[in-house]
Amino acid sequence: MHIAVLGGGPGGLYFAYLWKRRHPEAQIDLFEQNAPDATWGFGVVFSEQALEFLRADDPETVDAIAPEMESWNNITLNHRGESVEIDGVGFSSIGRLTLLSILQARALAVGVTAHFSNPIHSLDQLNGYDLIVAADGLNSLVRRSFEGDFGFSISYSTNKFAWYGTHKRFETLSQTFVKTARGTFNAHHYRYAPDMSTFLVECDRATWDHYGFAYKDVDQSKAICEEVFAEALGGGMLISNKSVWRNFPWVWNEHWFHKNMVLIGDALHSAHFSIGSGTRLAIEDAIALAKALEAEAHVATALARYQADRKPIVKKLVTAARTSANWYEKFPGHMQLDPLDFAYSYITRSGRIDDARLRAMSPRFMAAYEAAGQAGASENG
Ligand SMILES: Cc1cc2nc3c(=O)[nH]c(=O)nc-3n(C[C@H](O)[C@H](O)[C@H](O)COP(=O)(O)OP(=O)(O)OC[C@H]3O[C@@H](n4cnc5c(N)ncnc54)[C@H](O)[C@@H]3O)c2cc1C
Repeated sequence: MHIAVLGGGPGGLYFAYLWKRRHPEAQIDLFEQNAPDATWGFGVVFSEQALEFLRADDPETVDAIAPEMESWNNITLNHRGESVEIDGVGFSSIGRLTLLSILQARALAVGVTAHFSNPIHSLDQLNGYDLIVAADGLNSLVRRSFEGDFGFSISYSTNKFAWYGTHKRFETLSQTFVKTARGTFNAHHYRYAPDMSTFLVECDRATWDHYGFAYKDVDQSKAICEEVFAEALGGGMLISNKSVWRNFPWVWNEHWFHKNMVLIGDALHSAHFSIGSGTRLAIEDAIALAKALEAEAHVATALARYQADRKPIVKKLVTAARTSANWYEKFPGHMQLDPLDFAYSYITRSGRIDDARLRAMSPRFMAAYEAAGQAGASENG
């Protein structure tokens, strides 16, 4: 089979690697507009320990990636000058560029033909392939070319965010909430290498307007964020990399394939960064697509199987991501809670964790939360 993979992000690279490794006779051309060492963003986080979801099928890739990851078991919430730790919530992270470099090396080692610095401007450039895997991200050319056929829709969260890095090291995945005279901010921050952390700043629209961010350039915005988060940053600096303010885009497609073209990863769906699953979803899409292609004799039936098998799973995750994002859309209101109640509201925001599960998962946090509740009740009683 002659396959074109459009996009050298985690989804495209992983699909190309997986297929070529299992089917050495296949010809796979991967087209990536950027150079191999160019990337946006800083670290990405996975919502479980390392990449254990990959281990059963692909232990070698897990073994290549795992040593480069940072992992921890607690989340720290900083609110009103207090820090509350929620134990038992496993996360791990890795620099996006490190992850891509490992996946690139693995794809090249199995014989994928990678065309870096090679933007595709028209789908005519991909004529003649048996299958086109569109792993070309949020602004996918393939999807844009057939939006109606894919049943594409997009909407935007109202909050604004900007993705920075910093050399400040954080000991756990952390969330810092800050109220200033002009508004409310939060930051999602975590280290992804011994000396580098992601620092993602978010604020509600009213705050964004009060600060006039629409009229500030990247450096001016960065300076304001450094001032707002001076305590969390220990007076350190933020690092910008195309760190413009954005609204989170909710991308969805009802139909996952059209003719011989199939969508995976961010081209197909987006999942809010607060649940840390975009990269994992892209890799899992790649695995599901490869399995469907192996299970069916014809490309058309394989693509239908990919959609039928994978769509319900992705839908569930996207729904959870929306619930999580809705909590963030209202975070200035939640900030009126005292730190323990605030932390409880945060950790139960998806509606999927009840008290019994929380007691089992986060015994130290729940003991503190319940003791504070009882103390409050006896003071009031
Ligand atoms: C602020 C923010 C924070 C995030 N944090 C996390 C996180 O903590 N954890 C997590 O898992 N995910 C996170 N994500 C999401 C994650 O980055 C994406 O979900 C993931 O990268 C999707 O992988 P992908 O391969 O589908 O697409 P991408 O990584 O977007 O890759 C698409 C590739 O296609 C290339 N391309 C596009 N068009 C063309 C063209 N015409 N020709 C050639 N090449 C082209 C692009 O250059 C790019 O390399 C975050 C996203 C954002 C915006």
